[in-house]
Amino acid sequence: MQEQEYAEYGDQYIDGAWRPSRDSGSIAVLNPATERVLATVPAGAAADVDAAVAAARRAARGWAATSREERIAPLTRLRDGIAAAQAEITATVVAELGAPVGFAGAVHAGLPLTVTTSYLTLLAEHPFEERIGNSVVLAEPAGVVAAVTPWNYPLHQIVAKVVPALAAGCPVVLKPAEDTPLVARLFARLVDEAGFPAGVFNLVTGTGAVAGAALVAHPEVDVVSFTGSTAVGRQVAETAGRGLKRVALELGGKSANVVLPGADLARAVNVNVANVFANSGQTCSAWTRLLVHRDQYEEAVGIAAKAAEKYLPGDPTDPQTRVGPLVNARQLERVRGYLEDALAQGARLVAGGPEPLPGLPAGFYVRPTVLADVTPDLAVAQEEIFGPVLSIIAYRDEEHAVEIANGTVYGLAGGVWAANTEIAAAFARRLDTGQVDLNGGRFNPLAPFGGYKSSGLGRELGRHGLEEFLQYKSLQY
Ligand code: NAD
Repeated sequence: MQEQEYAEYGDQYIDGAWRPSRDSGSIAVLNPATERVLATVPAGAAADVDAAVAAARRAARGWAATSREERIAPLTRLRDGIAAAQAEITATVVAELGAPVGFAGAVHAGLPLTVTTSYLTLLAEHPFEERIGNSVVLAEPAGVVAAVTPWNYPLHQIVAKVVPALAAGCPVVLKPAEDTPLVARLFARLVDEAGFPAGVFNLVTGTGAVAGAALVAHPEVDVVSFTGSTAVGRQVAETAGRGLKRVALELGGKSANVVLPGADLARAVNVNVANVFANSGQTCSAWTRLLVHRDQYEEAVGIAAKAAEKYLPGDPTDPQTRVGPLVNARQLERVRGYLEDALAQGARLVAGGPEPLPGLPAGFYVRPTVLADVTPDLAVAQEEIFGPVLSIIAYRDEEHAVEIANGTVYGLAGGVWAANTEIAAAFARRLDTGQVDLNGGRFNPLAPFGGYKSSGLGRELGRHGLEEFLQYKSLQY
């Protein structure tokens, strides 16, 4: 039996203060590298959700009536709080997600700071009033926001919703993922310290099926912003549709990275391997399919095999570690299941595989895996695995590459590599997907992020992300 040496939190952040949960039950938060309990948090239900939404509703008019300067002041203090808490954020995400400490610092802690800063700049500049002919068009806050977030980039996904919602003048109720509520509690503490009016931000931890569903269905919620799986996103959209609520969905992906003849093959393959193994493959926009011309296929497989050797999973607190565990036992089973299925269907194992890793006494570890001879119809080439698994697929010609790249229900991200960016951009225009990086183009926190097809509705980040929380009123003169 494990000695109890963890915190038992019993409170939710509602109406400007930490208050005892009105519901019973708790959720145990595990460290996925050690399988030990880190803490327990309340399993909020209808009573907590009602209290949080009521607080947000009471705060809505006052917050909507603030000037941009009155919103910039607490958001600047929040940004400064996120900056000051970088080490604490990093340690929290390492503990509850198992992300390697280097990656956690740079991305899990660093990206929310970048995104918050970007919204301060946008808020200072955004035209909330526009003259169109004899009309003045006012961009007004869209109302009470329900934000439901997943565990894979736990603070980034919170910030990508909550910060633009607050900037737009909307109060928010956040329901974070069950696996990673501790960084959400840390965020709530930073919001509290930043001094927003009571009720403008509220946190309810709980399960998706109970707290999440109650929040999305709540009649006093106007906007639902959801990030998570496509299956749950569909349910959320149905519920929001019944209530005629505005809904934004950031869902799954099965993104293709297409290497055209003439590209720097070694660079394209090395970057792809790094991309797909980052965060243990738990990235919705990961390039999980590498598409290579059949004449270069074996060369690409060889490069990928060699690159994969560098990704040995280990203790996420060790700065040398590049790959940590998966988030939980369920994901581990799921990923291994996909690998066994692919191998049974004739895929060739180039690196990794479904067998347990030796030498690790505990933790939800899977081997970073590269599969070759994957045909586009296999489950590993169609479905989101959410693990460190790269499938290499051969194409005959450009038409065939477009057909394979577009041949899934998803359309979130992608990459194209060619002799130059003009050729890559021409190919990218033919892809049914929300983002494409050309010859390794860098992530841009101001560019709209979101999906085509079953990868979602609406966009996050930058101006497009802010506009998700605005509605328009036209005054005719
Ligand atoms: P999930 O859909 O199971 O859960 C996401 C969130 O929804 C959690 O907070 C969960 O508690 C809640 N939830 C679950 N059931 C609910 C319900 N019936 N009503 C309301 N809320 C409910 O997904 P997950 O396993 O937490 O996250 C992994 C998935 O998220 C992957 O499919 C991944 O691709 C996707 N994702 C997408 C993006 C993106 O931006 N497109 C980003 C990150 C993750």
